[in-house]
Formats: sequence, structure tokens, C-alpha cells
Amino acid sequence: MIPFNKPYLTGKEAHYLYQAVLSGKISGDGIFTKKCHDFFQNNNQFKKVLLTTSCTDALELAALLLNITPEDEVIIPSYTFVSTANAFALRGAKIRFLDSRPDHPGIDESKIEEVINEKTKAIIPVHYAGVASDMGKINELAKKHNLHVVEDAAQAIDSYYVGKNGKTPLGACGDMGCFSFHETKNIMAGEGGMISLNDEQYFSRAEILREKGTNRSAFFRGEVDKYNWVDIGSSFLPSDIIAAFLYAQLENLEAIQEKRKSIWNRYYENLEEVETAGHLTRPFVPSFATQNGHMFYVVCRNLDERTRLAEYLKANGVYAVFHYLSLHNAPYFKQNHDGRPLTESDRYTDCLLRLPLFYELELAQVDMICDTIRSFYNK
Ligand SMILES: *Cc1c(COP(=O)(O)O)cnc(C)c1O
Repeated sequence: MIPFNKPYLTGKEAHYLYQAVLSGKISGDGIFTKKCHDFFQNNNQFKKVLLTTSCTDALELAALLLNITPEDEVIIPSYTFVSTANAFALRGAKIRFLDSRPDHPGIDESKIEEVINEKTKAIIPVHYAGVASDMGKINELAKKHNLHVVEDAAQAIDSYYVGKNGKTPLGACGDMGCFSFHETKNIMAGEGGMISLNDEQYFSRAEILREKGTNRSAFFRGEVDKYNWVDIGSSFLPSDIIAAFLYAQLENLEAIQEKRKSIWNRYYENLEEVETAGHLTRPFVPSFATQNGHMFYVVCRNLDERTRLAEYLKANGVYAVFHYLSLHNAPYFKQNHDGRPLTESDRYTDCLLRLPLFYELELAQVDMICDTIRSFYNK
């Protein structure tokens, strides 16, 4: 059976874990956390980043940083992971779920303005499959209506928004970005995450909220002579053991990305014929976006066809999986939805199928999977 995902180990992880353990300082913000921070701040055009224990935590930190209260509304695509919404629900905010684009599961930018009112505080685009939302348009709306933008960049490492001023890394387009290093992502540490901050006004407060509301980070830099309780906060920083694991992965970012993108491209080329025949659609990458080999999915014509295709693949040794269920219909939220039909989000809920994509997947296996899909439609 070809699994849907298989976490890739570069070979250095255990070595760095050993080093972290031997260093004698394995709590947060040790040597490897610094190496990871430097990696992103030096190579990736992020002004400031902070590792967190997950993307969920990074999103919660973002909601705290923006002082989200029960008086506020936030705009979130319905087709996303629960954490995107939970972080704001935890602060009591009213959530306005938005539909997906007809050509892509990401937020339909053209519908954002319809739900903006005097209570709206933030827009949370999700760069689904590592493909950018239209950050030019979203930032324009944010500026016009004085809103914050938090990018859910959980799937978007090493991917870009291509705008008038060239390429900007995802996570560096809005006020802040949230990344995941969960085992299912391109670069992983089992569990892990990161917040990127693109506006200096958040730098020192983010450090404080992440360190239980204390100014401990400034204390360790010798900027204050004792540390104290100075704000609200929680424990969002990972142990240096997580960072050591992550650093081994980051050192191999280029090779990992190259391999994943070659798999993505192979699927894309192989499935052209099935799309042209009108059976399914392949992922669409808008001209303002790049893809980062995070995910390859197909969109079937209806739920029944997707179910049958998944079963056929499984019978032929291929594990393909569906993805999100529209959050506006979720048991926890349903009664709070304002009734707007979100038909595209529901269509991706029913029709999107993700195919295996992991570093060790061989191109010959990709060819086999595509042959199986072809034979499903030809039978
Ligand atoms: C994976 C993912 C998350 C959650 O990441 P964790 O690190 O597991 O908390 C949030 N949003 C999206 C879009 C994701 O894909």
C-alpha cells in the first residue's frame, strides 16, 4: 500500500537531538532555536520569527497580539483547519466564514468586502496547499478598512506571493504569519510551529506573550535586571529538542522542496489528459502565486465519484484522502452561521481528493497512481 504521507528524516535529526541534550540547556530558546530563527531571518526575508509549539499556538499568539475581544469580528475561509478559527473563537470573536474561490480552495477575495462592517478587526487568509491567496487584494482591503491580516501559512513554507514588487514569501505579506512543522508538512519536527512578525510594533510584546507574560527574553539579553509579570501570556515556546530536530530539516529545505515539487509536477503533467477529458480538475495556481509541493489534489465532479475513486485507488494499493469539512457547517459552529451559502467550500468538502505526496515517493509510483486514475475513468 502506498501511504498518503510518510515523514521524511534527513539523517541528522538524532545527531542534533543528542547535541541539544548534551548542551545541558534543553528548555526553550536554546542554541538550536536560535539557529532556526537565524535561518528564517537571514535567508527568507522575515523581519522576525519566533518558534512556537505548533501553528495552532502561533495563531493563538497572533489573536492575543491583536487584542481580539468578543466585540470583534474576523473573516476566515470556511474551508480550513479548525485551528484557524479556534484561535479567534478562544478570544470570543465572532467568526465570519467565507467561501472558497471557484478555481481554488483558498478564500474568495472578491467576497471579503461584503462581510466587512464596523466590528471587523482582521482577515485570516489560508494559503491552501501552499498556494498564495491574493495578498495584493487582501492588503488593499485591509488598508482601506483599517484591518489586520494574519496569514495562516501552515502549509506555505518556501512559497511566494508574486505581486507588483516581485516575490514575497508567504507569511511575510500580512501583519504576521503562522507556520506549522507538524509531521504532515513539508518541513517537520513532529509537532512544531512558528510565528513571523512583519511589523516592529509587535516584536517585544510577542516575546512577552510567548514567555508566560514575562519579560524573560529581555532579561536573558541583559536588557532588564530582573524579569517580572508584565502582560498576559502563555507558554508558546518549544523545547530546544524540537528546534534541534527542526534544524536538521531546515538544512535540507532545498533538497526536500526540489523533490516534492518534482512529484507535484509529475502528477500535474500525467493528469492533464484526464482533466482535458472533463473527468476531474487539477490544482490551479494563480499567476500571483507559486506552489511549494505541499499537496497534490484533484477535484472530482461529485461526492459519489470521489468516494468511488478513493475506493478504487485503495483497492489498487493507493491511499488517497479527502480534506476539510466546511467549518460553517461544523457541529460547534453551525447555529452561529449567518446563513450565507458557501457553495464552493461545500464543493471542496465533497469533491477534493488528496493524492500521496512525500519525499520518498518515487516518480514511477506517481506514474502508477496516475495510470490507476486513468483506468478508473476508462472502465
Ligand atoms: C496543519 C495546519 C494547521 C495546524 O498546525 P499545527 O502545527 O498542527 O497546529 C493550521 N492551519 C492549517 C491550514 C494547517 O494545514
